[in-house]
Amino acid sequence: MRQNILTFKDISVSFPRPGGASIQALEAISVSLREGEILGIVGESGSGKSTLAKTAVGLVNPSSGSVLLDGKQVSFAGKNVKQIRRRMQYVLQDSLGSLDPRQRVLAQVVEPLTIHNIGVSGERSEIARRLLARMGVGAHLVQRYPRTLSGGQRQRVALARALILRPDILICDESVSALDVSVQAQILNLLMELRHEQALSILFISHDLSVIHHISDRVAVMRQGKIVEVSDTVQLFKNPQKAYTKKLIAALPVFTVKNSPPPVPQHLSRAVLCAG
Ligand code: ADP
Ligand code: MG
Repeated sequence: MRQNILTFKDISVSFPRPGGASIQALEAISVSLREGEILGIVGESGSGKSTLAKTAVGLVNPSSGSVLLDGKQVSFAGKNVKQIRRRMQYVLQDSLGSLDPRQRVLAQVVEPLTIHNIGVSGERSEIARRLLARMGVGAHLVQRYPRTLSGGQRQRVALARALILRPDILICDESVSALDVSVQAQILNLLMELRHEQALSILFISHDLSVIHHISDRVAVMRQGKIVEVSDTVQLFKNPQKAYTKKLIAALPVFTVKNSPPPVPQHLSRAVLCAG
């Protein structure tokens, strides 16, 4: 069996509420991302998906529990932070939020190389151009500013910026949710290719069960700060164990009628076939 590369161990997070109360966003979450796999995290809005992702990169401190990288507890206080950031990249839904509006595309993808002192300057922009091209961002776009790009183009730039350091782990938090289906499919397709090419492990977060179904090897279902069920994707959809999961799957159109796997939007099915 594959090694666990990223482990959430008994993670609880509570946020203070005005008036002294607090909200329990995560309650004793334990789940692991294995080397080379795509682990889908699915749950309705407010179930704690983003909070979980943020504990992995140190943007949220757990009230208790720990995050392990390669089985070793991670601390975001020490001098290893730069190394951790290099190994683990986080891409948000809103690519405008992960990109600097005042910097041109190419410069933003070169920047992580400069920060981590990889290559010499001429080489860096060549590496960045190559990756951008691979991500479907053509040479004619690289001197543009983010706001002049479409949502799909910006998301590709954000992914290129995240992948330029060849991280071991990519965390995609609703990264394709705002895009239309054909653009979603192209990006999912790319992620599935890169996973094989670069030995990338991906934590893929979405509220969209059909996107999760297509991209994930395993799925963790979250509800109200807890994990309801974790299972191999095929098993989860064929034979969900928990009433909540059954309800989610039953709510997918067609599925209840045909009692077959959830409908494959045409573009997504093509993406899966291309990636296969
Ligand atoms: P999801 O990503 O699944 O939509 P989140 O992790 O964003 O869910 O949120 C989980 C719960 O924690 C929600 O009730 C949300 O309002 C609350 N929450 C998230 N971040 C904060 C924060 N910084 N301060 C207070 N409450 C928060
Ligand atoms: Mg979220």
